[in-house]
Amino acid sequence: MIQLVLAILAISEPIQGVWVAKGYPGDWEEAASALQNAGVDHVLPCFLYGITPAYLSGIVPESGDFAADPEWVESVLTECGLRGIEVHAWVVLWKSTNADSSLLDSLARAGRLQVSLEGDTLPWLCPTDPANLDLETALVEEMLERFHLDGVQFDYIRFPNGNTCYCEGCRARFQEQTGLAVGTWPSDVSPTGCQGDRFAVWRVGRITHALAVLSETVRTRGIQVSAAVLPDYRDALGCGQDWVDWSRSGIVDRIYLMNYFRTTPELEETLPGQISLLPRGFFTICGLGSGIGSLGISSVEAASQVEAALRGGARGVCHFHLNGTLLQALPVIQGHRSGRVQ
Ligand SMILES: [Zn+2]
Repeated sequence: MIQLVLAILAISEPIQGVWVAKGYPGDWEEAASALQNAGVDHVLPCFLYGITPAYLSGIVPESGDFAADPEWVESVLTECGLRGIEVHAWVVLWKSTNADSSLLDSLARAGRLQVSLEGDTLPWLCPTDPANLDLETALVEEMLERFHLDGVQFDYIRFPNGNTCYCEGCRARFQEQTGLAVGTWPSDVSPTGCQGDRFAVWRVGRITHALAVLSETVRTRGIQVSAAVLPDYRDALGCGQDWVDWSRSGIVDRIYLMNYFRTTPELEETLPGQISLLPRGFFTICGLGSGIGSLGISSVEAASQVEAALRGGARGVCHFHLNGTLLQALPVIQGHRSGRVQ
């Protein structure tokens, strides 16, 4: 009976995570200790950004703009492991702005980068290209092979906006996979074109397919898969990101809503609508902008938003992102939570 009660308590205890940019915040022995004391149970360090790992890879060259920092990776894993803090690798997909320039050039020459409606080539991999999905999958497999992780979180599981991708590969694949003929490319499949709606559905399907493949790659290791998503579902769909479908089909274990608001009322107004779209009881984490300097969130406001997120039905919160502001706020949040619990 006692074990049952403890199990129920463990299930109902809200979880608290923190996103961590590569290289931050320096001394991980001190940081992990502060996070543990503040009740943080998992961190999401950016181990893979597009096609640029935070460690030396055997698949892609090191980027001069985003140099590998293997000591940081090891210290995050070691110090968090010692304190029972889970590590879920934060993986940015497709966005290759940090990639090695010669690699990016060769991908552009091979027609593997996205092309906007205006015809500009973007430093993002085209997600409908099977070779690009293979590359992302291989990088995730390499990461899972090298490090012991508790989970993987995918981010940027989408196109950058509603105006991509109109590369030659998308032109061929859309027609081949739908059996439709496009008269005038790309105007007929643009958002306002006569086949725009059908193209939008195809884009969503391609992103979901890519996530399903990557999710399976992670789950074969017996660890959790989560997705960081745009807070406005309509905006998300416009970028090809159908997080409601992902939650219903179960291809991710958790959804992290990136609810980066200045004030508690804004969060209170938004969260119920988001939760109502998801299956009842789905593991939903409310991302908060507690460490975003431009939002200017005080420690007390951060604590207030945590309470609002939990009241609103989130299973936990996740703070973006680890820095001095957040390290100041976490003990205040912890104090506020302790007061509530008592
Ligand atoms: Zn494309």
